[in-house]
Amino acid sequence: MPSYAPACHAATDAARTAAQMRARAAWVCDNAGWRSTTPAAWLRFEASAWAGAEPPRAFFTRISRFESITFTAIDTGGTARTATYTEADARPIAAGPVFRLPLPKITPDTALLLVRIAGPHSVPLLTEARIATNPVLAAEPRIDIVLLAFVMGMLVLPLLFDISFFLVLRERFVLMHAGMVAAMMVYILAAGGLVSAYVTLPVRLLAVIGPLSYALGAGLSALFLVSFLERGAQSPAMRRLTIATGWTTMLLPGFCALQLDATQAFDDAAYFVTFLPCIIVISAAVFEALLRGSRSARYIAAAWAPIIIASVERLLRGLGLHVGPASYDELLYIAVGIEVVVISLAIADRFLAIRRERDAALTEAKMLEQISTRDSLTGLMNRRAIEARFDALLAQGFDTFALVDLDRFKAINDRHGHQVGDAALVACAAALRANGDPDAMAVRLGGEEFVVLLRGPRTLERAEALRQAIPMRIAQEVPGLELPVTASMGVVMLADPARHRMTFHAFYARADALMYEAKAAGRNRMNYERLTMFTAAPESRAAGEERVA
Ligand code: GH3
Ligand code: MG
Ligand code: MG
Repeated sequence: MPSYAPACHAATDAARTAAQMRARAAWVCDNAGWRSTTPAAWLRFEASAWAGAEPPRAFFTRISRFESITFTAIDTGGTARTATYTEADARPIAAGPVFRLPLPKITPDTALLLVRIAGPHSVPLLTEARIATNPVLAAEPRIDIVLLAFVMGMLVLPLLFDISFFLVLRERFVLMHAGMVAAMMVYILAAGGLVSAYVTLPVRLLAVIGPLSYALGAGLSALFLVSFLERGAQSPAMRRLTIATGWTTMLLPGFCALQLDATQAFDDAAYFVTFLPCIIVISAAVFEALLRGSRSARYIAAAWAPIIIASVERLLRGLGLHVGPASYDELLYIAVGIEVVVISLAIADRFLAIRRERDAALTEAKMLEQISTRDSLTGLMNRRAIEARFDALLAQGFDTFALVDLDRFKAINDRHGHQVGDAALVACAAALRANGDPDAMAVRLGGEEFVVLLRGPRTLERAEALRQAIPMRIAQEVPGLELPVTASMGVVMLADPARHRMTFHAFYARADALMYEAKAAGRNRMNYERLTMFTAAPESRAAGEERVA
């Protein structure tokens, strides 16, 4: 089904009439000089185009805002039939981003069809105007619907991808990217005309949604760039410039996209001109980041090169600086698809890098914690760790606090040297570790002083058994000592640890006093005390009486 392009076009002031435009001289009859910034644009269709074929019945062109469109069909005899329509009369059709209007009757006598478009807001509204018998069939689909649907499908996945990344990473750039993808989806639905396959929206709305979502998407891209590039990939000046460009791109071309009546004289050109800084600044920012060795910038360069090239082409076409077929729009849609997929890969790459960094930081933190809570000589918990966890250990039922001090240890050092003394301390720690018993927890408080916390049955007997195991263990592991290395012990037991709260320092002070008594009584013995909540004078016995044989 054929469609016919205008033979000539013209741009005039508002006052020029169809009668004045009949003369051939008033027209430009090649592909130059298209302007959307004049009060009125004219298109001239000549009957020779459809001679012998069925006459055209409808006008269709690319969606854009306009004030009114007047058709004047002029017969050879001079009779003229006119019809005037406003934006509200125009119906989008599912054949790309186009709308249709009915023509006044074209008869075999009709020689000329003049179209006056008042207040046009875009050049493609003029360059892509056609008339046909059946526009739905004739509008060789400007954009392959299958291609659009395919690109839309490509965009859905990254959107889901972004949401799940955000749940894990909580990084701003993931949200920015989701915003970009959403804007691009709206752009493709509106500007590609895909939406008209499902719903009939008013031309005035469709005309605005497309360029507006593109401006928002482009502005978000600049903001995305700033948050996505690694720290140090941007100089502070470039960073500020990129942020400013992001906001101005959303505001200025965004405003022009509204195509208000008051801005008709310049909004079309201004939309494209105000886009230029965005393209230039983003290109410069990516270039700078590449020079600074940014890994993310390499992904972005690959993702954005096609979209920048396609945008420049679209920009030149939008400005009327070059007239290309509307199917060139497909370049932009394909570029959008490539962009989104490559950026998703970049985000995945970044995701893994951030995860690696976090895992490494976590491992290091664990290591540091180990270092700060462990005694380096014996590997037992140190005093800092026991103090920090003391309340929790009481709550876990550790009710017995056994303070252990080696007897006459200074003599070992003096006679055999510190290295032998250290070996004895390691052996003592091994004895107190109680084979990893979960109900006994050994701690090195410092020097040759240890604590064993115990819970469960018969804690006093178990503590005493540990104390008695010390000399044998040291003798086994440190040969050459003439005398056994014994230990003295002061044990404090809580009758009801869940209710009887005591601080580490109170425990320690009591146990130390008991220990001192044990030393005074001749060493190599234990002395204990059971603290009950309501007795003022605790039950206490001398170590000698309690010694387990
Ligand atoms: P007693 O407790 O029976 O009264 O006598 P003592 O000799 O054990 O008493 P004191 O507390 O005076 O001496 C503790 C000694 O422990 C002093 C120091 O030489 C030794 N010591 C403390 N820390 C270490 C260590 O990390 N390595 C070695 N080799 N010796 C240590
Ligand atoms: Mg000692
Ligand atoms: Mg000591």
